[in-house]
Amino acid sequence: MIRNHYEEEHEAFRDTFRTFLEREAIPNRARYRAEGMVDRELYRKMGEQGFLSSWVPEEYGGLGLTDFRYDQVMMEEVAHSLESGIWTGALNRNAPPYVGKYGSEETKRHYLPKLASGEMICGIAMTEPDAGSDIAGFKTRADLQPDGTWVLNGAKTYISYGLIAELFVVAAKTEVNNKRQLGLFLVERGMPGFSNGRKLEKLGFHTQDTAELIFENVVLKPIHVLGDAAKGFDYMRGGLAQERLTTAAQSLPWSQKAIELTIDFVTQRKAFGQTVADFQNTKFKLAEMRTEVDACQAFLDHCVRLFNAGQLDQATAAALKLKTSEVQGRVVDECLQLHGSAGYMQEYPICQLYQDARIFRIFAGTSEVMKIVIAKDMLGR
Ligand SMILES: Cc1cc2nc3c(=O)[nH]c(=O)nc-3n(C[C@H](O)[C@H](O)[C@H](O)COP(=O)(O)OP(=O)(O)OC[C@H]3O[C@@H](n4cnc5c(N)ncnc54)[C@H](O)[C@@H]3O)c2cc1C
Repeated sequence: MIRNHYEEEHEAFRDTFRTFLEREAIPNRARYRAEGMVDRELYRKMGEQGFLSSWVPEEYGGLGLTDFRYDQVMMEEVAHSLESGIWTGALNRNAPPYVGKYGSEETKRHYLPKLASGEMICGIAMTEPDAGSDIAGFKTRADLQPDGTWVLNGAKTYISYGLIAELFVVAAKTEVNNKRQLGLFLVERGMPGFSNGRKLEKLGFHTQDTAELIFENVVLKPIHVLGDAAKGFDYMRGGLAQERLTTAAQSLPWSQKAIELTIDFVTQRKAFGQTVADFQNTKFKLAEMRTEVDACQAFLDHCVRLFNAGQLDQATAAALKLKTSEVQGRVVDECLQLHGSAGYMQEYPICQLYQDARIFRIFAGTSEVMKIVIAKDMLGR
């Protein structure tokens, strides 16, 4: 499908990022696998080259590239490189925007330059051992002290970049004007009382670290409070639309990559005196997959334009995330099937794509939660 979505400058950015991945990431892929994660140094280099949080305004050390298409290009190139542990979308568009949007002037001056340069990377810590979809069930709490500091206690789990990020946006219950609320706080690695639990072993994304975080009487100063400590629910609702767009933009290139890998395979593999590509079943499956992926691409590109114009709403972002992740699940399954047993072997990349795909229907809100958000928009309840 011809896409008239990008301009020359996006394609130039693509070339630069592709060259960067070829030089810095692809040669290290085997080592990342052996060590179980992409190393921290890569992100420092990405920051030096302007690939981290490039939306950060120039006055805070960034490039001021608010156009989401630059992020989209990076996610496409990561899929092209096959190094699935580099989550540029999560690094740039999930947690750091909370700092840019709700941080005080002091907070922004202190943290944004570090996030843009790669000196710090920032994770987002919402999910807890006993509450994921049900935000109201969070138990982590931050208590305001008479001296204006806050004391944070609790635990988070399944946190991306949990082991290597230096900064986390943490959602915690607060009590403001005698009412139970939710606040967002910044926690830095090295603060007394902050530690890691386990590095979690996953079905897929073997080079992406996912870990537990533990907070025991962590003292937070006003610089660590994001906006109003009573408005975390509202902030998260706003942020989740961007997170879901990002998740969809990360998901779709992997569906495309799966189809590409499968075309290579079926045009070479022979059975019953012909290539697997010659079977009508294969042609029909490929045609169905391409149609679904093209439709998702049009929807995604439309949502990116809406986002750039400040018009992407919750329900549309949820519908996009629901659709792209469900399509990805079907595509990787069909593609693996067309590989036969080769697809079940780790040495064939489709095996990794199949394993990685499963989480897209769960994180950033499960498919069921997406349907609740969409239905609420339709019915008002
Ligand atoms: C690799 C990975 C990376 C992650 N990264 C992060 C991260 O960086 N930061 C972070 O905060 N979290 C992260 N997560 C956590 C993820 O976002 C949550 O696990 C997810 O939101 C689901 O929450 P849960 O696991 O508690 O499931 P639950 O909420 O317990 O849901 C269990 C099941 O019940 C269903 N369900 C729940 N509520 C309803 C309902 N009202 N109606 C119908 N069905 C319902 C769900 O759809 C699901 O099928 C990550 C998870 C993984 C695996």
